[in-house]
Amino acid sequence: MGITGFIYDPFYLEHLGWRFHPERPDRLNSVVEHMKESSLWDKLLHFSPIPADIKWIETVHTPTYIQTVKNAFQQGRTQLDPDTGICESSYDVALLAAGAGIVGVDAVMNEEVEHVFCAVRPPGHHAERDRAMGFCLFNNIAIAARYAQIHYHLERILILDWDAHHGNGTQHAFEEDSSVFYISLHQWPFYPGTGSSVERGIGAGKGYTMNIPLPPGTGDREYLQCFTDEVIPAIDQFHPELILISAGFDTHADDPLAMLDVSTDGFAQISRLVADAAYRHCLGKIVSVLEGGYNLNALSESVMQHLHVLCESNME
Ligand SMILES: [Zn+2]
Repeated sequence: MGITGFIYDPFYLEHLGWRFHPERPDRLNSVVEHMKESSLWDKLLHFSPIPADIKWIETVHTPTYIQTVKNAFQQGRTQLDPDTGICESSYDVALLAAGAGIVGVDAVMNEEVEHVFCAVRPPGHHAERDRAMGFCLFNNIAIAARYAQIHYHLERILILDWDAHHGNGTQHAFEEDSSVFYISLHQWPFYPGTGSSVERGIGAGKGYTMNIPLPPGTGDREYLQCFTDEVIPAIDQFHPELILISAGFDTHADDPLAMLDVSTDGFAQISRLVADAAYRHCLGKIVSVLEGGYNLNALSESVMQHLHVLCESNME
């Protein structure tokens, strides 16, 4: 069909940590309002997420941890880790965020769309098997990858994580698995502390984790160079059947949490490189899932650029 999909639900606004937390509902309000003001909104095929079945959450997280998230607020807890506040709705919102990735995988695998973007919160890539971390409850991208592996029997899934922070939870989920290649570019040294270039996978997964740590101040030129010199050749060698993106936009120069210097146009350029790679290997199949990005303008304009490129790329 040559269409780009968009997955969003206003219920994502109901997850509230504490006041003045950077990971706030206005992030998604800003993205959606910006898009509705542009012609982009009408070009997208809109999908509603459905809450992820627990059996898919359990492919990444322990049953005990899932119960903890489910019951924590009723038991009087207002946070799951020092950075991750919760409210009455957080568990259900987190299930719906993980569900977006699953709906997204279905949409591209069934060829309803070529690419899809999931505008979700809470984010996911820091969430570990048995604990919440860094604003993340369930690891949305890891759950989407496991779903694609199990439900569609895919043997080569690529996860590209361009959030400014290393996706420790995602790396740990797949570091022994040669069928899921995890590539992360991130500021370093920086939160969460993992993601050095010597972390390259374990056992059968050795060689299927690629970390590209970047010093503060890294701008478009150096960032794009990493894509042309390392990321894209690695994708071409792996020949993925599906590309998942942990799309964090805290890599932007204006982001208040990180110190990388990527511009809005930089996101357009990397999106183009990845879309081209997706056409070379897997008929353009990309499921892109929002992670970080805390400056409202930078976030919404970068998401727009990302989606513009995905929309244009399928018209060729
Ligand atoms: Zn981040």
